[in-house]
Amino acid sequence: MKKKNNDTTIWFNIITIFPEMFRTITDYGIIGQAVKKKIININFFNPRNFSKNKYKSIDDRPYGGGPGMLMSAEPLYLAIQQAKSISKNAIVIYLSPQGKVFQQNNIKQLITRKKIIFICGRYEGIDQRIIDNQVDEEWSIGSYILTGGELAAMVMIDSISRLVPGVIKTKKSIEEDSFSNNLLDYPSYTRPQIIRKMLVPKVLLSGNHNQIRLWRLKQSLGNTWIKRPDLLKKKH
Ligand code: SAM
Repeated sequence: MKKKNNDTTIWFNIITIFPEMFRTITDYGIIGQAVKKKIININFFNPRNFSKNKYKSIDDRPYGGGPGMLMSAEPLYLAIQQAKSISKNAIVIYLSPQGKVFQQNNIKQLITRKKIIFICGRYEGIDQRIIDNQVDEEWSIGSYILTGGELAAMVMIDSISRLVPGVIKTKKSIEEDSFSNNLLDYPSYTRPQIIRKMLVPKVLLSGNHNQIRLWRLKQSLGNTWIKRPDLLKKKH
């Protein structure tokens, strides 16, 4: 497969003890295609491969006692160093419920970073010294607790990748998605015109592009007003 121009590619370097989980995004759909075309590049660094312990363990008890285990600092540190050596000047993100909550309007800025190292925590999380000395930013995907950072990394990678040039062909469809412009998307219909007596709104069959545009804008505004009025406050 022909390699794409470096300017349009993005590198995701993932520190995880479960790299296989990422097949969900690397092997399927639009992101899978982008990975094949090398518009999106994903590398994995498994702390288990850096464990000096004879059982290759990567967890340990927290100082001061308390429930649960933490990821061992040393294998994690070494995995991060390897990711950094391969991906110079990458930003290091720790997926954490304590991080800044990831939103659609954060994506454009993250894309400009080009190289991102994601640290996926497990157990009760990671040693604070790693966060203090190795992590640039902490990001959360919402106010709930996951068992690991992998799903959070996949959510971020999927939504960031959609906006990388060349991943989705029709730029207009991205522009009209919910949250662009702080509006939710308008309702859509496809063939057939009648399904069990349910009709398609007449205006969409009219061929009058101006009327269709106005109808969609009204629907978007109505949808947003009913489902997410908070977004309208952000609209200017
Ligand atoms: N004890 C930690 C706390 O309360 O902040 C939670 C640890 S959680 C069980 C294990 C790992 O899952 C975390 O280290 C983090 O990488 C990931 N994680 C959990 N919830 C997350 C969220 N909402 N967003 C991003 N990552 C999350």
